[in-house]
Amino acid sequence: MLCALALLATACPSDSGGAPTSGPTSSSADDRIPTTTANSDTQELPTLQGDVVAGADSIGDPIFPSLGNGGYDVLHYEILLDATGPELQAVATLDVLATQNLSSLNVDLVGMSVDEIQIDGVDAAFSRDGRELTVEPTSTIVADSLSQIQITYHGTPTPVPDPAFPTDLGWLDEPWGSYVAAEPLGAATWFPGNDHPLDKATFEISVTVDEGLIGAGPGLLVSEIANEGSTTFVWVMDDPMATYLASVVIGDFVILTTEIQTTGRETPIVLRDVFPTSRADEVSAVIEGRHEAMIEAFEPIFGPYPFDTYGLVGVPEQLGYALENQTLSLFGIETLANDSVFVEQVQAHELAHQWFGNHVSPASWDDIWLNEGFASWADLYWTGIVVGQDQFQRTAGVLDNAALGPLVGLDPDELFGQNVYLRGALALEALRRTEGDDSFFELLRAWTAKFGGRSASTDDFVELVGEWMNPNAVALIESWINDEQMPSLPGT
Ligand SMILES: [Zn+2]
Repeated sequence: MLCALALLATACPSDSGGAPTSGPTSSSADDRIPTTTANSDTQELPTLQGDVVAGADSIGDPIFPSLGNGGYDVLHYEILLDATGPELQAVATLDVLATQNLSSLNVDLVGMSVDEIQIDGVDAAFSRDGRELTVEPTSTIVADSLSQIQITYHGTPTPVPDPAFPTDLGWLDEPWGSYVAAEPLGAATWFPGNDHPLDKATFEISVTVDEGLIGAGPGLLVSEIANEGSTTFVWVMDDPMATYLASVVIGDFVILTTEIQTTGRETPIVLRDVFPTSRADEVSAVIEGRHEAMIEAFEPIFGPYPFDTYGLVGVPEQLGYALENQTLSLFGIETLANDSVFVEQVQAHELAHQWFGNHVSPASWDDIWLNEGFASWADLYWTGIVVGQDQFQRTAGVLDNAALGPLVGLDPDELFGQNVYLRGALALEALRRTEGDDSFFELLRAWTAKFGGRSASTDDFVELVGEWMNPNAVALIESWINDEQMPSLPGT
């Protein structure tokens, strides 16, 4: 997720877990997604064969077993939000591929009142228990078939406590507007879904706000519709996105858009920042040209920037963290106004997450070092360029190796610990120092090329090290991942 600003102060420092029994598995989850959608003509409908069972109420995460569900993959979410009244009014339509015969299925939803659920236009019964919303179709959903589940709901979103950080997660209402900070388990506070990074999907999010306000979301703005007294902003994220990375921000903002053509991509990137109207000129002057330079520096190492757009949102809050929401990283506006190497380091960190965490997502929350260790390697690398000093050496010099435990086997409150960030970053730097820049950068590009758009585990990474590097490198990375005491960085 996040880069906690306090943690970053030491050296900015963002998974292998159990495979679910009836949910999608890490690498294969998206392999079987057909190119058709629920609306398209299918030539032959699947027929019912085999057992009919209820979809599991968990996707099998070892740290957060309540997250996600089994028996289906969500391919696409369409979320319509009307934020003009005292309560949020919403309709979420999920295009769902059944992976087994389903007598019922669960989606995750926290709080909110459900008004109606339809499956392919037919009313469905439903019941609720905690964050589990169980939907019961009138007839069996056949394995390998596509269905549209439309859920109409409303209410005031109820944030949930972060298990690892002293803050609330989810849809957050403030006097100035609203924003979303969901990692790891807050997405279900504002839309129903299969809330786990193992089940990524494309999104279209429409946000209707009072006239004069902005409603921003992930991806590209495809239309802005003026209604009577309100405006509807329609955002399309057509690359797969984990639920926890979906975000919306509403307030008195401006959207500042430019287009850049980097050398690593064939098509331009739309850079669009969302800043409070009163601070936009000041903050955009501070960050002018910064992200273009970072993307140019990262692309030769990580592979092409993975999305059509990127940008920052600065909210008028003292957040104490920054968060890599997909294509729209979240910051407090005062942080962005601060022209310091430290803030630049955090910005490099959240940008790097677009490759590591967002494009390649963790297969379980126990694989979080694949997000945070990689983004921390990137922010230390970038900062080293800026200050002309080896930040890996410096970081290794101030850490107590005995205090930083293994990268996996985490408890819920250890999700964003220093080991995940800094030991994770130094594990990668150890590979770089023993195998050399060319081999290490090739490995990172192979990682994003092979697992981009999907989810991957720590085992997947170790396996890739074995494919691209010599056997000593496998032993080295396994030691960095698993040993009780952190190894020493080679060359220190
Ligand atoms: Zn991070």
